[in-house]
Amino acid sequence: MKKRIAAVCMAVMLAAGLTVPAYAATAKNPQTITFILNKNSLKFHKPECSAVDKMKESNKEYFYGTRDEAIKKGYVPCKICNP
Ligand SMILES: [Zn+2]
Repeated sequence: MKKRIAAVCMAVMLAAGLTVPAYAATAKNPQTITFILNKNSLKFHKPECSAVDKMKESNKEYFYGTRDEAIKKGYVPCKICNP
């Protein structure tokens, strides 16, 4: 019986996952985002960088361009992740 309830819960969770807003799905997909820019410190990071986790959501900007484009925007590469 308990296994059956767990299976139903899983199905509900999977269904809920499909209704996640598009921006959230994009934010979790490192293949489409090249870098995370910090609008406060003007540094840019690889999406998996540990500093990104500590960054305030309001300071984050998801960037889809190249490294050179980020530098041209006035951003400096992070010293932790060396993007
Ligand atoms: Zn970094």
